[in-house]
Amino acid sequence: MTDRRINLEPGQRYGRLVTLEPAEPIGRALRWLCQCDCGQQRICRINDLRNRGVRSCGCLAVELREAANRRSHALRKERAAARGQHGVA
Ligand SMILES: [Zn+2]
Repeated sequence: MTDRRINLEPGQRYGRLVTLEPAEPIGRALRWLCQCDCGQQRICRINDLRNRGVRSCGCLAVELREAANRRSHALRKERAAARGQHGVA
């Protein structure tokens, strides 16, 4: 059952993801079933885990996006306040 191309072990952690078992590859893209800390399971390409910095089932990206939204929203408010109530200068 050992496939040398899959030199990953179950139980390896990448951010929130922990590898569980090899999954069906897509073409040459080797994939593993991963367990995310949030409780979801996701099949990830090893390449994504290793090289593209995939660190969650997607929940992390959603959280980061929301945090970024909150920040940029706060920034817009700040800028609007700096411009004064009349808006566009
Ligand atoms: Zn998750």
